[in-house]
Amino acid sequence: MTVRIKRLELNGFKSFPRSTVFEFDAGITAIIGPNGSGKSNIADAMRWVLGEQSYSNLRGRKAEDVIFSGSTARSAVGMAEVTLTLDNSSGELPIEYQEVSISRRACRNGENQYLINGSRVRLKDVNHITASLGQAHTVIGQGLVDAALSQRPEERRGLFEHAAGITGLRMKYAATARHLAETTSNSTRLEDLLNELEPRLKTLERQAKQAREFAEVQQNLRETTLRYYSSLWREHQERLNTLRQNAETAQTELERETSELAEAQAAIQQLETELETLQERGEALDQQIIDSRSQVRELEHRIELSRQRRDSLNVEVERHAERRASLVSESEQIEADIGERQAERESIQREIDELEVQLAHHRQKQSAIDEQIDALTR
Ligand code: ATP
Repeated sequence: MTVRIKRLELNGFKSFPRSTVFEFDAGITAIIGPNGSGKSNIADAMRWVLGEQSYSNLRGRKAEDVIFSGSTARSAVGMAEVTLTLDNSSGELPIEYQEVSISRRACRNGENQYLINGSRVRLKDVNHITASLGQAHTVIGQGLVDAALSQRPEERRGLFEHAAGITGLRMKYAATARHLAETTSNSTRLEDLLNELEPRLKTLERQAKQAREFAEVQQNLRETTLRYYSSLWREHQERLNTLRQNAETAQTELERETSELAEAQAAIQQLETELETLQERGEALDQQIIDSRSQVRELEHRIELSRQRRDSLNVEVERHAERRASLVSESEQIEADIGERQAERESIQREIDELEVQLAHHRQKQSAIDEQIDALTR
């Protein structure tokens, strides 16, 4: 047997909260440590990853016991994972990989997963691989030798069968027995069918004869049909040739008419263009007429306004003439008044002159009196 353990990786399993890797080189690997340091936990990990279902074989009471439950230095983790890597370069394991990694994960919520080379598999697939390990796969735990010696012969048988690689053979035997049972039941069903079919053999022979005759008639029919369709095909071929010639003539005619049609269309196109130009000019002229009419209306309106203005100016001119006449007579009156006022003003001026002479005289008298008063006061 040349399947070898290469590596064992523990992560969150029992007393291994951190990722711990054990490399197994050629020869014997021994793990040494004081009591309680976790040596048996490594053996448990090996059992566990290979699909162990018995909690007591894993020295626990429930599935959760394999997950690191915490220590004074570290708090508990939520998942345990163990990966066992086997060297399968000999190809003895029933899987096409040189190296096979079997992993098992357990979570506190009860979830349990198996993986082979990173792909999710079922426990059955792991068992299929471990079974093929045969006698090379026996985990002898602490006290197992003592227990084996004290067991009854029939209890001990399981251990020896496992160690002798009989477990794998037993699985193969069970599968073969299952296949045999299926084959036996199939052959029984076939016998039943045979018994059922035998009485119908005559009828079937008659039907076979009829089928042969039918095939013959069908063959004749096929040949006749073929001949019929060949002559039909030739006839149609000739008609087709005539029709092709007609079509060619019609095609030539069509091409000539098409070119005439194109010419006519070009002429129509040109006429349409000219018509459009004329229409545009007509529209412009219409617009000019509309504009001219509106100008005429505006001029008429302005003439009417001018007429009204002229009439009102005439009225005003008359009014101004009357006013001018009255102003002329008024000015003559004012001029007469001015003459009178002028004369009156001149007589007043004379009076003022006389009064100013008197005032000057009185001022001289007053200043003489003021001087006398000053002299007296002194
Ligand atoms: P001995 O030689 O006495 O059998 P050992 O070296 O084989 O000892 P193990 O029995 O593998 O030691 O390890 C026991 C230790 O593992 C104990 O300290 C125990 O507390 C610890 N342990 C077991 N399960 C867990 C767990 N789920 N979480 C944390 N520690 C655990």
